[in-house]
Amino acid sequence: MKPNDFDVVSMRTELHEIPELGFQEKKTSDYVAAKLTELGLKPIRNVGGTGVVAYIDGTEPGPTVMLRADMDALPFKIDGKDVCIHACGHDSHTAMGLATAARLVGNVKKGRVKLLFQPAEETLFGALKCIEDGVLDDVDYAFGAHVRPIQDIPDGTVCAAVRHTASTFCWVDIHGEVAHASRPHLGKSVVEAAVLATNAVNSLWVNPNKAWSAKVTTIDCRSTASNIIPDKGRMCLDIRAQDNATMDELLEKLKVAITNACACVGCACEISFPGGVIPAAEYDEDLVTEVRETIKEVLGEEKLANDCGGGGEDFHYFVQKKPSIHAAYIGVGTGVTPGLHNPTMTMNPESLRNGVEVLTKLVLDKVG
Ligand SMILES: [Zn+2]
Ligand SMILES: [Zn+2]
Repeated sequence: MKPNDFDVVSMRTELHEIPELGFQEKKTSDYVAAKLTELGLKPIRNVGGTGVVAYIDGTEPGPTVMLRADMDALPFKIDGKDVCIHACGHDSHTAMGLATAARLVGNVKKGRVKLLFQPAEETLFGALKCIEDGVLDDVDYAFGAHVRPIQDIPDGTVCAAVRHTASTFCWVDIHGEVAHASRPHLGKSVVEAAVLATNAVNSLWVNPNKAWSAKVTTIDCRSTASNIIPDKGRMCLDIRAQDNATMDELLEKLKVAITNACACVGCACEISFPGGVIPAAEYDEDLVTEVRETIKEVLGEEKLANDCGGGGEDFHYFVQKKPSIHAAYIGVGTGVTPGLHNPTMTMNPESLRNGVEVLTKLVLDKVG
C-alpha cells in the first residue's frame, strides 16, 4: 500500500470523476471493492443492488459497528444534456468510509466493524434494499456522516447530530364524471374537487410547536376543451414533519381532509405514497452525547458545531426497521457552497480529514 492510496482528499478527487446514479454505481462500487481488497478485506458485492459490504474483525467478542457511506450522484440537465454530478457530496462520504477503513484495519480488538457502501440514497430506496438483503441482521451500532453546507455549520467544524426531518410526497388521483360545461349538474368536476382539497389541506392543523408543512405542489386537471368538465385529475403534495409522531398525525388528517373534500362534489380519490415515508432522525441521545465529547477530544472544543437539521435521509430506515440499533450521524462542515443538490456545488475537501478523525475514534471507542 502506497502512503497516498488511502488519502481521503485523493480518493474523493478520483470518485468525483466517476459520478453514477442510484443503483447504477458500477464504477464506484468497483473502485470501493478494489480499495477494500487492497486493505486485505473481502468485499461482498451486489448488496441491495450495487452496494458493497466488508468486515474488519476483532479477535474478542464484542458489538458489530456499522459505518455507512452512500455512493450515488444526482441527475441534472445542463445545456440540454443529461449529466450526472456528485452535487450531494456522496463521493466525499465514500472517500471518508475508505479512509476510515484504512485507519481501522489492524486496530479492531473486539467485535467487528461492518463497512456498508450503500447505493441509491437519493432515490430513498437504497437503504431499504440493503435492509431487504439482511444488512442489519448483525448490527448493534450504526454511524453515518454527511458533508454540510456553509449555511448549516462553518467549514472545518463537525456537529454531533444532523436532525433530518420526516418527509414524503403523495399523489392524489381524482375520479369524477365528464359533462358538458353547460350542464355541470350532470357531471362531477375534478377541478372543483382539487380546489376544495387544496383548501382543506391548507386549513389543517397539527401542534404548532412542532415544525411541519404540507403543501400542494401540482394540480393537473386539464380539460381537453374549454367547455368540457374533466373527469380525471392528479394532485401532488410535499409533506414534512419534525418527528415521526407528528408525521403520522399529519398524514391521518390529510387523508381524511382530501377524501372528504373530493366527496363534497361527488368525486372519489386514491392517495398513494410512491416514495414511501422517510422517517425522521431518531438517535440514541446518549450516543450523541458521546459523539459530542469525541469531537471535542479529537478536534478541540472550538471545532464542535451545533447540531443542524433539514432535508431527509434514508439512513433513518435503519433504526425504524431495527429499533435496537444505537445510531448517530455526524455533520462534517466542508464549506459546501452554494448548496447541496446545486450542480455548481463546490467545497473544501481538506475538511474531510476531520470527518475521518472523528469516525475513526467513534468506531474504535466501541471495538478498539
Ligand atoms: Zn442529496
Ligand atoms: Zn446526500
